[in-house]
Amino acid sequence: MTGEVLALIEKLAAAHSLSLAEYRALLDGRDEEAAQALKARAVPVRQAIYGRDVYVRGLIEISNICKNDCLYCGIRRSNPHADRYRLTPEDILACAEEGYALGFRTFVLQGGEDGYFTDAVLGGVVRGIKAKFSDCAVTLSMGERSRESYQYLFDQGADRYLLRHETADRAHYEKLHPAEMSFDNRMRCLRDLKEIGYQVGCGFMVGSPYQTSGTLAEDLKFVEEFKPDMCGIGPFVPHHDTPFRDCPGGTVELTCYLLSILRLIHPPMLIPSTTALGTIHPLGREMGIEAGANVVMPNLSPVTVRKKYELYDNKICTGEESAQCRSCLEQRMASIGYRVVTHRGDIKK
Ligand code: SAH
Repeated sequence: MTGEVLALIEKLAAAHSLSLAEYRALLDGRDEEAAQALKARAVPVRQAIYGRDVYVRGLIEISNICKNDCLYCGIRRSNPHADRYRLTPEDILACAEEGYALGFRTFVLQGGEDGYFTDAVLGGVVRGIKAKFSDCAVTLSMGERSRESYQYLFDQGADRYLLRHETADRAHYEKLHPAEMSFDNRMRCLRDLKEIGYQVGCGFMVGSPYQTSGTLAEDLKFVEEFKPDMCGIGPFVPHHDTPFRDCPGGTVELTCYLLSILRLIHPPMLIPSTTALGTIHPLGREMGIEAGANVVMPNLSPVTVRKKYELYDNKICTGEESAQCRSCLEQRMASIGYRVVTHRGDIKK
């Protein structure tokens, strides 16, 4: 590690902000020593706010039917090999019931942009979960919708919304998405969600095709300025039925480096150690927590559909029952000295 990199790490830890050029230099100067130095600052910052608690969210993958055609994603509409499914409102409620019994107090409903989930249908599901489990938070991750739709779903009781910005660089965004998708609309969605009052999560893939330290610096600057409540990052993992099938995937090292940086940029942020990280390394999720993350999201989807929600190849946890996923993660966190806690897990500000 050079003296310049160490100085940047100290500056970031003190000011929670760097210039674009400084973020780029911090990324370009990455080595094992710099990673350790970042971690050594990020972990105490996380510890001071959240102790050794890891928040848990039950992920319910409600549909893999999608009208979009993101070039990286296995459930893109032009993948004819995806075995399509959608859960009914009754199925989703049943998952939430099972999850509640297992101690989950946050449910994340995620899916492709499936026209079946109109405001009436999705709003009904949100209302149903909130009516039955008033001590739970409902998080939606259903892609881009109109401001009116976000407002309606919020009024039905949705608490949080996850919408990764994917990349904060317009030209990069356009290389990852078809022409009909718009960078401006994605950013509009994030602003609307925040103004409406949701706890909002953005995020990006690490090592996505055409990503550079320059585009990553823009991602970091965006997070610094937008100050989301959550930020989800995970390695890009190629999917065999997409145009990016032959592209290299993201690494554990860079993902963990970025997790530490994100913790220092916005200390209270809820940062998951993602399934994608666990997919590329058997101890990936543990490493993510040890780098500065503080959330895990075990799968609560019915086992019959898990393999079908295949955003990328070799996704883990597709064969286990929800209870197994829950206890597996609890043991994994205990093995590194952390404790999975089961309250709603709102951001501490
Ligand atoms: N339709 C919703 C949910 C998308 S899936 C939405 O648009 O927000 C959740 C996230 O998975 C995406 O935001 C993307 O960042 C990630 N993802 C998709 N394909 C991936 C891949 N091949 N490797 C790693 N992550 C991927």
